[in-house]
Amino acid sequence: MRQYMVAGNWKMNGTQESADSLIAGLKSGLDGSVKATVVVCPSYVFIGQVRQALVGSSIGLGAQDVCDQDQGAFTGEVSGPMLKEAGCSYIIIGHSERRHVYGESDALTAAKFAAARRAGLVPILCVGETLEERENGTTEQVVERQLNAVIELEGIEGLQNAVIAYEPVWAIGTGKTATPDQAQAVHAFIRQSIADKDANIADSIQILYGGSVKGDNAAELFAQADIDGGLIGGAALKVDDFLAICRAPA
Ligand code: PEP
Repeated sequence: MRQYMVAGNWKMNGTQESADSLIAGLKSGLDGSVKATVVVCPSYVFIGQVRQALVGSSIGLGAQDVCDQDQGAFTGEVSGPMLKEAGCSYIIIGHSERRHVYGESDALTAAKFAAARRAGLVPILCVGETLEERENGTTEQVVERQLNAVIELEGIEGLQNAVIAYEPVWAIGTGKTATPDQAQAVHAFIRQSIADKDANIADSIQILYGGSVKGDNAAELFAQADIDGGLIGGAALKVDDFLAICRAPA
């Protein structure tokens, strides 16, 4: 039985004050009835502060990106070992904003995935097609190519302690959510393509959906057989909205 996960990607948002009040609100709102593992991924600069604020709670801490190298002359980058020492357990890898705004390739994304694993961090690997790719009918090809870049570098065992997030680019931050059927179809495809290589990993890996998940659509999405929770952007910045999503898994 797979555990649900709801991970909040704060992106480049917030202040020290808003980070504290968001964590305080989540801590008081998350009780034993919440079935999901809850994770927050603040900006690098808030990680130390959020780590302190999370003391005494079961909320996990993650970062939004990582350098593919472990140390050295890489100005502006942050390494896996640094994030581990700072208290992170998770890293979002290959978010569509990294791939499409900053032009990061499948190869660099795979190298970052490997760096996260070397540091003992759980990668949350984002995959997903653009609107054009969906309209061309190449969604499965794109998602498989993104997944295979990681499998070729790390082997199928590389997915053993990883999480996948299917995030159609056209649904991120747009208010357009994939329908539960559309999302389920791609999740099932991802799980099957992993099963072709390792049935046990396919069965246990959590595949999250991301793309305009809100309190009012989360339950229906999470009820799909292959959807194990969500990676949440905008709605992760408001306590009540995020709590509603965390409470959605039935
Ligand atoms: C995201 O950034 O990963 C995301 C899914 O954003 P939103 O929920 O705002 O669409």
